[in-house]
Amino acid sequence: MSRYQQTLDVLRQQPRTWLVTGCAGFIGSNLLETLLKLDQRVVGLDNFATGHQRNLDEVRGLVTAEQWARLRFIEGDIRKLDDCRQAAQGVDHVLHQAALGSVPRSLNDPITTNEVNISGFLNVLVAARDAQVKSFVYAASSSTYGDHPGLPKVEDRIGKPLSPYAVTKYVNELYADVFARSYGFKSVGLRYFNVFGKRQDPEGAYAAVIPKWVAAMIRNEDVAVNGDGETSRDFCFVENAVQANLLAALAEGQAQDQVYNVAVSGRTTLNQLFEFLVQTLGRIGVQYDKRPVYRDFRPGDVRHSQADISKGASLLGYAPTHTIVQGLEEAMPWYVQFLR
Ligand code: NAD
Repeated sequence: MSRYQQTLDVLRQQPRTWLVTGCAGFIGSNLLETLLKLDQRVVGLDNFATGHQRNLDEVRGLVTAEQWARLRFIEGDIRKLDDCRQAAQGVDHVLHQAALGSVPRSLNDPITTNEVNISGFLNVLVAARDAQVKSFVYAASSSTYGDHPGLPKVEDRIGKPLSPYAVTKYVNELYADVFARSYGFKSVGLRYFNVFGKRQDPEGAYAAVIPKWVAAMIRNEDVAVNGDGETSRDFCFVENAVQANLLAALAEGQAQDQVYNVAVSGRTTLNQLFEFLVQTLGRIGVQYDKRPVYRDFRPGDVRHSQADISKGASLLGYAPTHTIVQGLEEAMPWYVQFLR
């Protein structure tokens, strides 16, 4: 039996109380869905900055009334320490997802990104420490590798950040480490690599590449590629990220006070991604015949990204269940239904 299966069994037998910040967002709502389906008690915190009530409504439709009743949702802001303290009270495990994502957003508005991603992070960390939670897992980012040219990316070899967003995510790691040294409050950082799946927002200027392209394809609009299309990413289906969170939350000893890559260790260029999307949509009856439109490279973007996931495999028992193609197969019907 895999470590993940064992973890799920433990949680079913001994339900806990979880705080999921950013629970109305993409990854947060997927965590919420999994936890409620496991009969856990969940406190959700979100201010709907980029998350949506419709994500919560969708989760409500996917769980039983009894499971839904185990959610206590707080509409609040991580920039307010009181909101964080209220949310952390009586919690066993924190999965901190709330942040302002997107490299371009951080270039356009570094101040708000800093306030939410650094000051907000610190508030959640302090509130969790003071509430004496059993574990604290937070969303870090592959952007922390910055300009380091090495491939695949190994956790302890990072470069200089290429955007304000990357700075904020690196500062999260520094604070987490200092809290372990100074207060003995240990946490686990998960460096997500381009996570995708259902409920990832396809709309808006800061949409991620997969939902943005899928939306364009379903609407038969042009798909714009930043650069020559040979930029590569390690696209990670959200189920893999959920697995990493639950494993990390129950990690003990050496496995704590660490950061881990969360990806598949695959490498897909944007040109390949384009073809995968066309093929996956084609299999469910959506034809797209246009060719991509190439434009300039985007500032702040890392050129290549591929994770070494052996640290998570050995210390957490992390074993991704979905490749990019398997993840796209699962996610696509949701996009078609959502966008049509
Ligand atoms: P998302 O935008 O869908 O979710 C973020 C959630 O945080 C939203 O619901 C938003 O309303 C909430 N939020 C933002 N500011 C808040 C505030 N001040 N107070 C309370 N709630 C607030 O994004 P996501 O893709 O689900 O990302 C989740 C986390 O993972 C973020 O920390 C992000 O930086 C990180 N991450 C994501 C990816 C990815 O590929 N999706 C990659 C690396 C890291």
